[in-house]
Parts: sequence; structure tokens; C-alpha cells
Amino acid sequence: MSEQTGPPVDDGAVEPFTGRLDAPYQSPVQPHELRLDDAFQFGCHAGISCFNACCKNIDIQILPYDILRLKRRLKVDSREFVTRYTVAFEMDHHGMPGLKLLTKPHSTECVFVTEKGCSVYADRPMACRYYALGSMGVRMKDSPRVDDVFFVVKENHCKGHLESKTQTVREYRQEQGVDVYDAMNREWRDIVIKKRSSGPTVGQPTARSLQLFDMCSYDMDSFRDFIRSPGFQEVFALNKDTTEALMTDEDKLLQFSFRFLKQVLFGEMSIPRKAGAREKRLARTKRRRVERQKEMAGQKLQETDERCDNPNS
Ligand code: SF4
Ligand code: SF4
Repeated sequence: MSEQTGPPVDDGAVEPFTGRLDAPYQSPVQPHELRLDDAFQFGCHAGISCFNACCKNIDIQILPYDILRLKRRLKVDSREFVTRYTVAFEMDHHGMPGLKLLTKPHSTECVFVTEKGCSVYADRPMACRYYALGSMGVRMKDSPRVDDVFFVVKENHCKGHLESKTQTVREYRQEQGVDVYDAMNREWRDIVIKKRSSGPTVGQPTARSLQLFDMCSYDMDSFRDFIRSPGFQEVFALNKDTTEALMTDEDKLLQFSFRFLKQVLFGEMSIPRKAGAREKRLARTKRRRVERQKEMAGQKLQETDERCDNPNS
């Protein structure tokens, strides 16, 4: 849409798709796949009778790059953005953490909609940019590649489908500034799809992996601190220039966080490790465990002594 957007569309990662799109009866999704150079009929402008209607009943998934854009705009850090403007949900039965855009209290309206339209328009989320298109990453059976498929979402409240304007998917994406969002979120989407489709070969992620997924997806401020931490520096061999670039460029940091996630979830080792780092880490963990055991043994001894000194306690 050129003037106003707002979709009840869940965008981003979806279930792997192995056949034609099969939309349920009465679904607003048109069961007709579009590719980049296919045309569709749709127009949206400020004077349209349904202005803002799409932002009044939302169900929008927030993707990692959406957070970077919105947190900068609102001048808050990533944790504060997540706390104030999103709601958590689980993306799959393993509890992969997802986020949805918050609605106003006791309402289905987007927290950012005003009478004049979207208050964060230049930095609106990717799903809002796509509407009234939806997109899916699909992986054909036995193919390692994830392809993009588009489809029209026709909801009764949206009168844009009655406008005579036609455009190709490619033109619409350009007009809505979708390309940069797609490029920034693509690797993350592929990680989620791979995780979902890998089934028992990858299996249930550990609690630590889920925490790392949460941080690497939605909290770049904490991820930056994590990279600076002695624990990370001890294990990974990043040169000074790379570290400097990651500290000063959040877009690069986000892409790096996806590499890190692939390493954690799938063992795809693209970040070099320091020689002997694993052994050093194991030795440190062992040392700590022994110290802790000694501490606990000391505490127990002290409690026994106290009981002996005071047999009535
Ligand atoms: S972020 Fe803006 S465009 Fe998206 S639903 Fe909210 S008000 Fe509408
Ligand atoms: S409901 Fe459709 S036509 Fe109306 S403002 Fe929203 S996107 Fe545009």
C-alpha cells in the first residue's frame, strides 16, 4: 500500500510447503500463487473509504529486522521495545520463541495506529509492507532451497481490491520498501524453516539454545554485550576489525547473530574458534564445579557443627 498499511497477515517463516497452496474454505488468502513478475489488482490511498481498517484488527508477527527499525525510531533499546510493544508466542511445539505486535488495551487495534494513520509508517514492520499480499518461504520436498511464493489476501474490510490499479509483485515490493526487509530477515526465516522441517534429526533444542535464539533474534543490545563478554572472546577468534564493525553496525550484528544461531542449532561452523578454547572452557567448568562442591561440603560441615553445639535446634 502506498499510503496506509496494516495486515492481519502472519508473515515470515512458515511450514515447509510441498505442493500447491491449499487455502481453507472462506480464507481471505487467494489460493493462487504469484511469482515476482505476476500482476495483481490493488490500490490503497489516503482517501479510501476503508482507511486504517486494516490496522484495527491485527495479528502481526514481528521479525528481527522490524525490531531494529522500530527501536531506532522509538529511541529505545531492544529489550524495552520487546517489553513495551510485543507479545510473546511459541512458533512451534518445541517452544521456539516468536513475537507479535501489541494491540491497544482491550482492543484489536495496533498500538501504533492513530486517526491520521500509522505513527511509525516509515519503519512499519515487514508484514504491514506486504499487505494485501502475503508471502511464504517454501521448500519443495528434497530440495535444500527455500523459494518465495506470494498470494493475495482479500479481506472484506479492504476496498483496495476494487481499485483499478494493477502492478506486479516486484513493483509492489519496490514501492513498499520490502526488499531490504526481506534481505535482512531471509536468513532468519531459513533458520526457522530448517528447524521446523528437520524434525527428530535436530530435535528439541535445549533451554540454553532457546535463550540464545531469543537473544539472537530479538535483542541485539544484549547480543552486542554477549560478544564483548570474556566468555565469548575466550572461545571465538574474531579479529579487531570484525569486532569493531559488529559493535558499531547493528545491521551487520544482526546478520552475524544468524551465523551464530546456525552454529548453535545446526553445528554449521562459520565463526572461527580459538585453538584449545573448548578444552580451556571445560577445564574452567570442571574447576568451578569442584570449588562449588567444596563450598557445599564446607557449608554442610558448618551446619553439622552448629547442630552439635546446640542439640535442641
Ligand atoms: S504498524 Fe502501522 S501499518 Fe502496521 S498495523 Fe500498526 S499502524 Fe498499521
Ligand atoms: S484496508 Fe486495504 S485499502 Fe484500506 S487502508 Fe488498509 S490496505 Fe489500504
